[in-house]
Formats: sequence, C-alpha cells, structure tokens
Amino acid sequence: MAFQRDRAVKPILDWSVYRDAGMGDAYADIPKNGGDFARAVAVCINSRQCEKKGKGVMCPSFRVSDDPSLSTGGRVRLLKQALNGELSLADRALAEAMDLCLACKGCKRECENEVDMAMIKIEYLAQSHATTRPSLRTRLLASIPTLLTRYPRLKSLIALRNRSPLVSGIGSRLFGIASHIDLPEPADIPFDRFSTDEHQTAEPAGEVALLLDTFSNRFAPGHVDAAKHVLQQAGYRVFVVQAEAGDASLCCGRTQLAHGLVNDAKANARRMIAALLPHVEAGRTIIGLEPACLLAVRDDYRFLGLGEDAERVAGSALLFEEFVARESMAGRLKVDFQPHVSEVPVLIHGHCHQKAVGAMKAMRRVLKLIPGLKFEIIDATCCGMAGSFGIEKEHAAIGRAMAEEGLLPALRASPAADIIANGFSCRHQIGACEQREAKHLAVFLSEQLP
Ligand code: SF4
Ligand code: SF4
Repeated sequence: MAFQRDRAVKPILDWSVYRDAGMGDAYADIPKNGGDFARAVAVCINSRQCEKKGKGVMCPSFRVSDDPSLSTGGRVRLLKQALNGELSLADRALAEAMDLCLACKGCKRECENEVDMAMIKIEYLAQSHATTRPSLRTRLLASIPTLLTRYPRLKSLIALRNRSPLVSGIGSRLFGIASHIDLPEPADIPFDRFSTDEHQTAEPAGEVALLLDTFSNRFAPGHVDAAKHVLQQAGYRVFVVQAEAGDASLCCGRTQLAHGLVNDAKANARRMIAALLPHVEAGRTIIGLEPACLLAVRDDYRFLGLGEDAERVAGSALLFEEFVARESMAGRLKVDFQPHVSEVPVLIHGHCHQKAVGAMKAMRRVLKLIPGLKFEIIDATCCGMAGSFGIEKEHAAIGRAMAEEGLLPALRASPAADIIANGFSCRHQIGACEQREAKHLAVFLSEQLP
C-alpha cells in the first residue's frame, strides 16, 4: 500500500509549483517523503484558523462536527504523519478525514497560507487507487459524463429510479446512493444535439467561445441557450465549443479528477484543450457556466502536467460572470437590462469554487447592471452536495447538516425569493432540501433582456 512506512511516495500529480515552498525555513516541518507534494501539505502553519466558525466556507466538515481532525489543519497533521511513515494510507482516522473533505477549496482562499486540500485530496485518492481498485460507485460517479453520452437510455433509468422506491432501494444497496434523494434528470435533448448557429450579431464587438460542460449540456441546455443569447445581445459573436459531429461530447474531466482517477481526467483534459486552443489562438475568451468545470480547466489542469497549451487555455478562461463584469467595466457591453420590479430581494448562493477564486465580486457587479434589482448574497459554507458527496448514502446526512449551517435557513427566511445559484450541485441540493428551483445567472440575465 502506498504511504507505507518502508516505501517512498512518488506523487502522481504535478506539484512543481510548490518546489520552493518552505525552502530555508527551519520550522516548515516538511515530511520526509513525497517531494513537492509533501511541500504542498507542509505550507500549513498550524494556526488553527480552520477551527473557527466565522463567515465564509472553511471548513464545512469541522463546522458540523467540531472535530479538529476534520478541519483542514487536522487533515494536514494526519497526512504529515503518513508522509513521515508513521501512518499508513489506510489508517482509519486519515481515511475518514479525507473522506469528509468536500474538496470545496474553502481553505485555498480562506486559510492564511492557502492550503489546497482539494488538490491534496485528489493526490491522496490517486495514491489509494494505485494499490486498491476504486469502488464501483466511484467508477460510476466519475464516469457519469461518458455514461450519459454512451447510453442515452440512462435518462429513463434515472427517472424510473426517482419514482420507484424499489429501484432507488436497489440503487442504495448496490451503489451506496442515498435512496431518499432524487437524482438530477438529464434533459430530453442535450444542447449539442439541437444547437444552431442562428441569431449571431451582424457586426460583433468581439468573439467569445462558450465552453460546453457536461452538466449544462446534458442537464440544463436552456442555460447554454440563455448565456448565448445574453452574450449575443451584448454584442458578441458566440462560438459554442463542442465535439465534432459524431464524436463523444467534450468533458473537462472534473468528475474523474474529483474521484482521483487522474489518467482518465487527463485524457478528457487533452481533448478539451485541443478543442479550446484554436479559439484561444483566434483571440477569443473562453467562457464557462459551471464553476467547477471552468475552474478545472483554469486551475486544476496545472497539476496534470499538460504543458504550455494548457497554460495558454487557462490564461484565457473566465467564468460567465467574470467576463460580463470585465466587459461592463471596460464599457464594451452593448446591452441595457430591463428594470427588476420585485420588492423581494433575490437570494444568491455562491458555488464554493466561485468563492475560492473571488468571483462573488463579479456576481455582485453584474447584478448591479439590472436597474432596481434588490439582492442578497447568502453567507453560507458549502451546500453539502459538492458534486456527488450529498447523494452518497453515508454522506447525505452530514451534507444536509452543512446546508443547514447557512444556506437553508436563509432560503426559508424568504420563501418567495428568486434564487440564483451557478453551481449544478448547489441547485440540486436546493431542490432536494427545499423543493425550490434556483437559476443560473445567465438565465436570470436573459429574463431581464429588453
Ligand atoms: S490549514 Fe491553514 S488555517 Fe488551518 S491550521 Fe493550517 S495554516 Fe492554519
Ligand atoms: S477543501 Fe473544503 S472541506 Fe476540504 S479541508 Fe478545505 S475547507 Fe475543508
């Protein structure tokens, strides 16, 4: 087993960005094993800031458990022991601590030394898979984008599972999926099967490339349409980046990365980069709707050792809200939104990865473009869905408890409010816990077009 006392740890991800971390610092306490990965772990200065419960995201598992070993720093302490050969990878306390990390990236932004536990968890899982075959559920959840492309009938199976206690019970026993939570159902026709290139602006102010992620494509094609419409109305020619006709849909590989299946993620990342690169070369900004997917391309690909093309793509990639905010500040948006008439403030729930890159500022700026709009950004930690975490049988209750830390009380306090949530899993959690529908910002903006 990897991380064993007698065995050197060879990192699977590219941690070279941490090469100089802790250099010359006698107190850095860098573990003996693990090279640059060990340096990434050792950037923690043990301040225990992650064991506080102020505003912000960090650290959802500590917030609901009060257990220091389930904080970011607690995980670091256990990992250091493992990298020093004092614990095995399979140690129960370490395995539980890593299992309950949601990879929300709250620590990446809020810890004073920017410990990136979300990436560290991917390395940890990849090391585990190197010696122990991943579970059926892990393989299933990681491959959802591929499965949806290959087996369109999966849609009917998901619908049946959501309506039949017998089928959801079987799913729970076989795959460990919580039977009481409905799964998101794919749309009848994904965006890449009906999209056309109509209604392009005659004299565009610029050209942009819209990254078609699996979740928007398969589950919310209307969001892609809405984003395209807003961007076109704002004066841009929009290229939707999708696979060639007859090829499998593009996928950024985020679901595989989240489950530690690094080689599978790399294969998808290479396809995605190859599809995006011509647009970057044509000077187009790459725009993403789903925070986890766009930010995988922009930030996580750097750990996959994919070379300069990946860097170039990352350098041109922006979230939808970041692009609209940037263009409005530069005075290039050619659209005036209609006034919003409701007195009830719209509630905004940020995806943790949006918060981790400071994109809530852009959300605020964009919403201010709508005259008369009243809105409130909910102060909440992770919603607890975090990809597939909240539907996993053993995690569903703790995921729900995280949602109760801030998100759900805020929603209940304003039952008539519209809700904006750009994250697919956040919208899923809001629907599952409160039976309310949240919209992507692009949809909300499209409703405010003249
Ligand atoms: S993870 Fe960050 S906040 Fe927590 S103890 Fe380490 S340095 Fe402090
Ligand atoms: S990624 Fe999120 S859950 Fe994991 S240690 Fe950091 S703040 Fe905690």
